[in-house]
Amino acid sequence: MKPDAIVVGGGVIGCSIALRLAKAGLKVTVLERGRIGREASWAAAGMLAPQSETTGEEAIFDLSVRSRALYRGFVDEVRSISGIDPEYRGEGMLCVALNDEDASSFAVWPSAQRRLGLSAETLSADDTRRLESSVADSSLGGVFLPNDHQLDSRKLMDSLAAAIGKLGVEVVEGNEVSEIVREGNKVTGVSSAGECLHAGAVIVATGCWSSRLLSTAELEIDVIPARGQMLAVDGGGLRMERVLHSRRVYVVPRRDGRILIGATLEYEGYSRKVTAGAMNRLLSAAIELAPAIAGCEVVETWCGLRPDTPDHLPVIGPGPLENLFIATGHFRNGILLAPLTAEVITGMIVKGAIPDEIRPFGWERFTSA
Ligand SMILES: Cc1cc2nc3c(=O)[nH]c(=O)nc-3n(C[C@H](O)[C@H](O)[C@H](O)COP(=O)(O)OP(=O)(O)OC[C@H]3O[C@@H](n4cnc5c(N)ncnc54)[C@H](O)[C@@H]3O)c2cc1C
Repeated sequence: MKPDAIVVGGGVIGCSIALRLAKAGLKVTVLERGRIGREASWAAAGMLAPQSETTGEEAIFDLSVRSRALYRGFVDEVRSISGIDPEYRGEGMLCVALNDEDASSFAVWPSAQRRLGLSAETLSADDTRRLESSVADSSLGGVFLPNDHQLDSRKLMDSLAAAIGKLGVEVVEGNEVSEIVREGNKVTGVSSAGECLHAGAVIVATGCWSSRLLSTAELEIDVIPARGQMLAVDGGGLRMERVLHSRRVYVVPRRDGRILIGATLEYEGYSRKVTAGAMNRLLSAAIELAPAIAGCEVVETWCGLRPDTPDHLPVIGPGPLENLFIATGHFRNGILLAPLTAEVITGMIVKGAIPDEIRPFGWERFTSA
């Protein structure tokens, strides 16, 4: 029997959509070229952090804050279905000023956020170090964001994969979709390895590989890879409760004692090189922020390819053909935006509803000029 929906791409976006569709009672298939959750979603630091260093004026800010509000419930739901804990942590994020420029920016964006009704607590240098003793003595102060949280994105992907399996979603790994299949203006399925698979709806959630697939539906959108390099150290006995953020780096403590350090933002095509220069820059910025990191053992280095678009905003909505839906280009915030994206795409497929606040994120903005 043909599925109601085929989701192409098994990253955080595709799997979250599959989960929501399956819970709405649809028969869903996920087609994944490699393994579920092993691309950008696996590489991510897992910060659920719309607030750090923004005034809140960006077009995506409201959606990011709304998605953050969905997260605890989303994680509880996924964990209770799968039995795998994505290790959600709610200790908040501490942004630290390490020079005068940082300190003067702290006079601007936290108050802008407070005017929007969000929590952003400006701290003296002493209070910053009282909150996190690992912060450098030379710090000039901080901003505490109690509602910017984090989780382990690799565990989230394991949990999501298990959850959709338990909900009866058919997951086919090692299956690259080459084409979107249509009859006239209606999408009827996808083509993979020369075989046509039919479905009531097709959702393209193929991250930074979306352009080629969308071009088979005559939609030209540049979704390009933005490489992010990271590393992890073994924190040993280093006491660090919260995500720390300076302008040059973020540092993310995990429950297993590792500390993640990230991340670069580079446009080098699909290259997956981890470079000495990037590791050097990340480590020196992390040590400037939390000097005790200098004594920690480096245990892993990696990189991932974020899906970026010309305006750095995601593409979420119905495609130009009937039964085609697009959820890609989530750039630096795909983990954060996954629950909201899944909810919105499911609403479009099940109820035909397109919320007004999603309309600015349609594909039309790239082609209407
Ligand atoms: C270093 C780094 C740190 C990050 N930190 C954060 C963070 O702290 N918080 C946050 O919110 N976001 C973060 N991000 C961004 C986040 O990882 C991405 O926005 C998100 O993972 C995108 O999810 P996705 O499902 O669209 O893409 P992906 O996870 O890349 O998944 C796309 C999937 O589609 C599959 N695919 C592609 N083409 C095909 C095809 N033709 N047929 C079948 N399958 C196909 C791929 O194999 C892949 O599995 C970070 C990213 C990086 C690289």
